[in-house]
Amino acid sequence: MQPIRMVDLQGQYAEIAPEVQEAINQVIKDTSFINGPVVREFQIQLEEYLDGTHVIPCGNGTDALQIALMALDLQPGDEVITADFTFAATVEVIALLKLTPVLVDIDPQTFNIDPKAVEKAITPKTKAIIPVHLFGQAAPMEPLLELAQKNNLYLVEDNAQGIGSTYTFSDGRKQKTGTIGTVGTTSFFPSKNLGGYGDGGAIFTRDTDLAQKIRGIVNHGMYKRYHHDIIGVNSRLDSLQAAVLNIKLKRLDFYNERRKAAAIQYTQRLSQHPKITTPIRQGDCDSHVFHQYTLRVHGVNRDALVDHLKEKNIPTGVYYPIPLHAQKAYQSPQYKDEDFPVTNRAVKEVISLPMHTELSLEQIDYITASLIEFMDAQ
Ligand SMILES: *Cc1c(COP(=O)(O)O)cnc(C)c1O
Repeated sequence: MQPIRMVDLQGQYAEIAPEVQEAINQVIKDTSFINGPVVREFQIQLEEYLDGTHVIPCGNGTDALQIALMALDLQPGDEVITADFTFAATVEVIALLKLTPVLVDIDPQTFNIDPKAVEKAITPKTKAIIPVHLFGQAAPMEPLLELAQKNNLYLVEDNAQGIGSTYTFSDGRKQKTGTIGTVGTTSFFPSKNLGGYGDGGAIFTRDTDLAQKIRGIVNHGMYKRYHHDIIGVNSRLDSLQAAVLNIKLKRLDFYNERRKAAAIQYTQRLSQHPKITTPIRQGDCDSHVFHQYTLRVHGVNRDALVDHLKEKNIPTGVYYPIPLHAQKAYQSPQYKDEDFPVTNRAVKEVISLPMHTELSLEQIDYITASLIEFMDAQ
């Protein structure tokens, strides 16, 4: 059996090595390291993949979120609602722009933001909601869109973990995550479903004017060379990353299918265990692209489980061990711990198993058997 990795980028690279080498060599030969033609090519390919949504490449997924919020002309003190259970980048950019983050609890089944909690948190100062398609599971966009429309709010989708996922509306209409709200963002961090060989990110919007504005923000607020109309940032996807991403984008659906196949195998082996809750896909099978395969475990010491698996050379992850409302940087007198019962429970119960495109059945058998062995001994 091959050694088990949390993310196996070596195995994935082996399949595309000659193509990647050639593309990288071409960029070096051209020396167009910044804004080379390959960046434009990637942008166009991704726009096609996202059914015609505008794509603005940028430096990383955190920049993408910050730039998306900058483009919405929010004022200091405006409130932005997001989930208590996500990677810190989501709340970080809100605070950085002197907006007021308002954290709310999540749905126990999907780990995604709970629209009922969002509704309760809306005040006259609320200007935007940031759902995160956490672990690759599409957030409940239909109720969130309704809330956004009713209350005149922007909807910013943090799609760093969900690229390639499809949300199905109640009338059967399907739309890719990241293209449903006012603006969407993603990350090409190497371990993401569409990962480069370094940092990268992008912003998505179907609004042509907003796309135009964002193209200036990523480039020092410049719309005409050396004319700075608004305050921007410097955030670029470099050509070497775009060259790699071009090759991997062609395989994104295939990669996501492989992740789903591994998830199905995990679920078959684990879902009947009384001390394990396996992740669910809501609606149809396309709504989850399994950036992570995250279980809840009950009635066992999770840290001891992590150690047990580590001894068996099985890496795991705990995403995320601390709710954002309890993080030093984001504590606020406005939060009461009891307002976040679902998150508070999730942080104690979650464990993510190895998830990538190269998992073998043999590995999955070994991982699940080792897990069940520990659970049964408790
Ligand atoms: C990875 C991630 C980000 C940040 O992306 P970077 O490219 O690392 O800056 C933001 N939000 C979520 C939910 C993420 O998983």
